[in-house]
Amino acid sequence: MIPFCPVPNRAKILIPNLMNSRFWSQVVRDLTPYVPGEQPKIAHLIKLNTNEHPSPPSPRVLAAIRAELGDDGAPLRLYPDPDASLLKAAIARRYSVTPQQVFVGNGSDEVLAHAFMALLKHEQPILFPDITYSFYPVYCGLYGIAHRAVPLAADFAINPDDYCHTPHGQPGGIILANPNAPTGRLLPLAAIERIAAANPDAVVVIDEAYIDFAGEGSHSAIPLTARHDNLLVVHTLSKSRALAGLRVGYAIGHADLITALDRVKNSFNSYPLDRLAIVAATAAIEDQAYFQAACQQVIASRQRLTARLTALGFEVLPSAANFIFARHPKRDAGQLAAALRQRNIIVRHFKQARIEQYLRITIGSEADCQTLAGALQDILGN
Ligand SMILES: *Cc1c(COP(=O)(O)O)cnc(C)c1O
Repeated sequence: MIPFCPVPNRAKILIPNLMNSRFWSQVVRDLTPYVPGEQPKIAHLIKLNTNEHPSPPSPRVLAAIRAELGDDGAPLRLYPDPDASLLKAAIARRYSVTPQQVFVGNGSDEVLAHAFMALLKHEQPILFPDITYSFYPVYCGLYGIAHRAVPLAADFAINPDDYCHTPHGQPGGIILANPNAPTGRLLPLAAIERIAAANPDAVVVIDEAYIDFAGEGSHSAIPLTARHDNLLVVHTLSKSRALAGLRVGYAIGHADLITALDRVKNSFNSYPLDRLAIVAATAAIEDQAYFQAACQQVIASRQRLTARLTALGFEVLPSAANFIFARHPKRDAGQLAAALRQRNIIVRHFKQARIEQYLRITIGSEADCQTLAGALQDILGN
């Protein structure tokens, strides 16, 4: 049975909240905030825990920031363009849509938050997989949105039938990460189209944070937005464009969906993107050649690392992302993560049912991958 999670998320409130103040609103008392991967302030650490890109961004990004700053930084006196029109135009050109079909925000986390508020908050509970990006239930808690966690299949695949013609009727909305996180598994476009068609009165959000690492062929659902006015596709510049530090994400969909996001954005923060972010993100989107080479480099490293870990006895899920999700049948994942940490390598370990024996390992530089594989070989030998 699909567990039903009413509003607010009572399951989490069983943990006594020791940090508390009489000044806190009831909303704050009830929150279960997202816990991001660690950003340690230690030098010489091999950081494979938050799926950042191993290479710097396009050199054009740096040139654009320098040009915007000028000699004396005077442009920073002025507010940025609240519509980030320059960036929207570049994204629209890149994906053959109109600027009215593009929304931009301060990282895709902000774009997703606005989508939850603007498009997914309805009477019916929304649907997403039991194992997926752990920010989704956090937004549900923040905005008071009920959800059903739909179990992934035993092989961690999403079964599209679970999202089509469910016995509960059309859901309030659906959100899927594709490729899914932290599994890295890719759902074919035909399945996404089927889900969108089966739920014409619900918005289906596809979070494509990792889609650029899916490799050969076109896997993005963006072209489907032309046929399905209920489909919203969300991208980030944090992973494939190597700009996690810049905080830029965007969404593409029918202009009516974009208007809804704009209404929330303009009720929250008129200037989510600063002047440097607008010009830098535009430069990154326009440098297609650099981008494709950088993605290819990660995909090639992923293939080599997968082969190497498989040879060490790991079971590695097929990944379409810039990370792999792997378990060793004879070794506890928490202990492996701790042993790596002692060797100054950090990977992500989720203490969550079904996946507590897995490690999520970001594809770093070729040297990082070599060091990681060597360390694991060493640890397993002991
Ligand atoms: C990293 C990630 C995001 C957030 O990206 P930002 O643009 O850095 O906020 C969104 N969704 C998924 C699935 C991610 O892994």
